[in-house]
Amino acid sequence: MTKKILILPGDGIGQEVTKSAVEVLNFVTEKFNLAFSITSLEVGGTAYDKCGSPIPDEVLKSAKEADAVLFGAVGGPKWDQLEWDDRPENALLTLRKELNLFANLRPAFLFDELSGASPLKESVIKGLDILIVRELTGGIYFGEPRGVIDDVKPNYAFNTMIYNEDEITRIAKVAFESAQKRKGKLCSVEKANVLEVSKFWRSIVTEMSADYPDVELSHQLADNTAMQLVLNPNQFDVIVASNLFGDILSDIAATLTGSIGMLPSASLDSSFKGMYEPCHGSAPDIAGKNIANPIAMIASLSMALRYSLNAEAISDKIDAAIKKFVQNGYRTIDIATDDNFLNTSEVSKKIINIIENE
Ligand code: NAD
Repeated sequence: MTKKILILPGDGIGQEVTKSAVEVLNFVTEKFNLAFSITSLEVGGTAYDKCGSPIPDEVLKSAKEADAVLFGAVGGPKWDQLEWDDRPENALLTLRKELNLFANLRPAFLFDELSGASPLKESVIKGLDILIVRELTGGIYFGEPRGVIDDVKPNYAFNTMIYNEDEITRIAKVAFESAQKRKGKLCSVEKANVLEVSKFWRSIVTEMSADYPDVELSHQLADNTAMQLVLNPNQFDVIVASNLFGDILSDIAATLTGSIGMLPSASLDSSFKGMYEPCHGSAPDIAGKNIANPIAMIASLSMALRYSLNAEAISDKIDAAIKKFVQNGYRTIDIATDDNFLNTSEVSKKIINIIENE
């Protein structure tokens, strides 16, 4: 059956890295005779400039119909002063919420050849391969009530951190099952020492562990995990955390690899439809220069092929090509040690060339 793919390049380098990933997608679609229907639409600030909304109705409708959405990045100083409803970032949160993308998978891995790019010592970082499973549609980012009260003295602002048992169970299930497919270790992260919602989270995850005897479960407080990720990252296999803690920890894990330009992410619903995006933003400082590293976006395409598009073998080929690209010594500006680096459009050509010659 034809699978539907929606391409949303977004703003800044989102446009450039998505173009590279689409070149790879078009190549594998043709070479391996894949039945894909591919549509591309504007989102974020680019869409706001054209039609006054960062997420036009057509985008939401097409995203709901798609099996996989490839999302570049949104945002930039041009739109920073807008009201929340008009801001590019609103498009991202709306898509996550409306598509019910509750499970965010963020791998953080390091190719041995790039261990010099990490801010950590090679002896600490070598072999890094972590998967962070972040709850994406609940918790304090969406909790109600929320607000700013400015008609009393002193003024105050508040948010609500809330999880029900179903939300915790479904994200923990994804994490346990991911650990089963990897090294069999799961660390559940919260702040059970101070937060009721965290104590509740811990009790549910602990109860579920009886159904996964092959997974070694541990619990850590979020502040300790932030420290442990820097001191001894290789202790981790899979980490599961709420929206807030997962957001912070996955950025730390991404930084450990030395380049945010290498790391993909997947956000899935319960039937494995999903949105796939690089971990980085729209990088206004380098936008339009054709120097952004598109590998995170190409690796996100690979995750889409694996999880949502029934094309695991093609995903393996893309992952192998990225590995070979790095092993062959090709570099982009963010991981180069000298002036010898490829620009954005050259990277997809190299990746395609490697797949073609395998
Ligand atoms: P950023 O990830 O865009 O950039 C951080 C730094 O990393 C910059 O120096 C940038 O040049 C570099 N960088 C990022 N991706 C790179 C790549 N592929 N190749 C080479 N270098 C790369 O984060 P930021 O500067 O905090 O945010 C910029 C804008 O992006 C803001 O408007 C923010 O809201 C938005 N943003 C969007 C998303 C998203 O769409 N998912 C995520 C984060 C930030």
